[in-house]
Amino acid sequence: MTADEFREHGHALIDWIARYWETVEGHDIQPDIEPGEIRRRLPGDAPESPEPFSQVMADLDEVVMDGLTHWQSPGWFGFFPANASFPSILGELAAAGLGQQGMMWSTSPVATEIESHVLDWLVDLLGLPDAWKTSGTGGGVIQMSASDSTHTALVVAREVAALRGNAVDRLVAYSSEEAHSSIEKGARVAGYQHLRLVEVDESYAIDPQALEAAVEADSNRGLVPAFVCSTIGTTGTTAVDPLKPVSSIAERAGAWHHVDAAYGGSAMICPEFRHLQDGVELVDSYTFNPHKWMFTNFDCNVFYLRDRRALIDALSILPPYLRNRPSESGQVIDYRDWHVPLGRRFRALKLWFVLRSYGAEGIRHHIREHVRLAGDLEQRLRQDGRFEIVAPTTFAMVSFRHFDGDEATESLAGSINASGTSYVTSSRVSGRAFIRVAVGQTHTVDRHVDRLWSVIEEAA
Ligand code: PLP
Repeated sequence: MTADEFREHGHALIDWIARYWETVEGHDIQPDIEPGEIRRRLPGDAPESPEPFSQVMADLDEVVMDGLTHWQSPGWFGFFPANASFPSILGELAAAGLGQQGMMWSTSPVATEIESHVLDWLVDLLGLPDAWKTSGTGGGVIQMSASDSTHTALVVAREVAALRGNAVDRLVAYSSEEAHSSIEKGARVAGYQHLRLVEVDESYAIDPQALEAAVEADSNRGLVPAFVCSTIGTTGTTAVDPLKPVSSIAERAGAWHHVDAAYGGSAMICPEFRHLQDGVELVDSYTFNPHKWMFTNFDCNVFYLRDRRALIDALSILPPYLRNRPSESGQVIDYRDWHVPLGRRFRALKLWFVLRSYGAEGIRHHIREHVRLAGDLEQRLRQDGRFEIVAPTTFAMVSFRHFDGDEATESLAGSINASGTSYVTSSRVSGRAFIRVAVGQTHTVDRHVDRLWSVIEEAA
């Protein structure tokens, strides 16, 4: 493909994407497709000769479109949002166009410096401690996912405990029983042999007394509490663990305190949510996902540390081919030491584009709108009389069930999803079925929630 052809196809592709966004609302959110159906449409062998790019593009309509789950539909209320935006898509394209490999400062000074700078901005925007800026003891890094960041935190905690002379097979990790499965997976990958999923209170937040009792029982058995994870916005019901009491338990036990704010973290751009992270200055690490609720397309996860030294000590390995003068000067950040992979792409570009295009006030506006819409839906559900609200609507997710029980609840979720216009996730908490409605797609406005409500009213 020549530069001129690239220009031509690039314009056509941007047009195609813009049209997709303009029309996405008209598609059934879930594809009506059998397993293997897409593969059957693909040739058995890779093309031996080049195909015209127009033919490749045509298959976006002929093949790709039929197998899409439309996460960017404004009727998307499933899981958590994976919201994207035009500035973010352009940032992604620019990053691909520049083809940077930002493993070290010297391999892409601009990728490193924009990343550090934008994450320092976010420290201020989210009301996080100043010390977490790269000018302080800490710093932030963009990773692929919250799971990666939590896994990394588990590794750092393990190394900190090992440096104190503790055998890895005695280390214990703790989270609430409502914490995301990435804690369990990360603990497994990081080699922890003991994981405690601690009981929750009536709001599904960790019960600090139960945590303290578990920590004490383990210490009495000769085990070593090494890692405690609090969640701001659990996946099930968006519960918020109390950071202050958890921090003091972790500190007394000498354990690393990590915060998984994958979903809830974005809301901290609105000062009215910051009481939910009271005590954040006491924690050791913190992760949140702009790729959930900050209009930055997947993948974009942010991982902050109070003290970057522990992370770098845990992950830094220096083969001769990576030696270079800027690194040896100690004046630069080499992000290769801040996560598992060596190579890294210029993810900060899309976040930078988003922050500049929306401005903090634009992001606040949209988040507050989502919160308002979720509040409206909760009101309707309460007033209707057939539904029970299962957990507080702390952010923009409503958790509810049908008073008639699990079968009615699951059947209602099925009807909503079968409507094609709205999509929700059903789950279980305390052994009972409920429906999660997560408002947060970039273009969701009143009429989409009204439409969801009509389906609920009719199908319940
Ligand atoms: N933590 C929480 C609280 C989540 O809700 C999720 C995903 O929904 C994750 C972690 C995992 O996020 P990721 O897909 O970025 O690994």
